[in-house]
Amino acid sequence: MRTGYSALSTQHSRGGGAISAQDCLFCKIVAGSIPAQVVWQDATATAFRDLNPQAPVHVLIVPNRHVASIGDLAAEDDALGGELLRTAAQLAEQEGIAASGYRVVINTGPAAGQSVAHLHLHLLGGRRLGWPPG
Ligand code: 5GP
Ligand code: ZN
Repeated sequence: MRTGYSALSTQHSRGGGAISAQDCLFCKIVAGSIPAQVVWQDATATAFRDLNPQAPVHVLIVPNRHVASIGDLAAEDDALGGELLRTAAQLAEQEGIAASGYRVVINTGPAAGQSVAHLHLHLLGGRRLGWPPG
């Protein structure tokens, strides 16, 4: 679903890292200039299916505004962080994995394997998830 779409183009003003929003893969997906299987969009966040899914349900939830990682969140972003988490829970319901259980992962920095410098929550579910993660 795509809602609140027209507001997006003006929300890239704050940089969050070495890469500019203009060159950012997930900013382009948010803007619709690179295709993705979008499952949710509102004025704050966009969620789309991971290109290389690691579980039967693997959705990425990203802020529409470019923020490189959780390390770049400021105090005024507290509401954004809460909305991203609540969106993950809502999408778990929508994807039918809320009852069976799911995992929300935020890889941050090289040792954790963050490969796209735009904050994203992985929503994973639909199978038994091992612990500890690799
Ligand atoms: P990270 O490794 O940074 O935590 O997660 C990045 C995720 O983005 C990976 O799971 C990867 O499969 C996914 N990804 C990379 N490029 C694309 C793309 O162009 N489209 C979609 N839908 N997912 C992507
Ligand atoms: Zn971005």
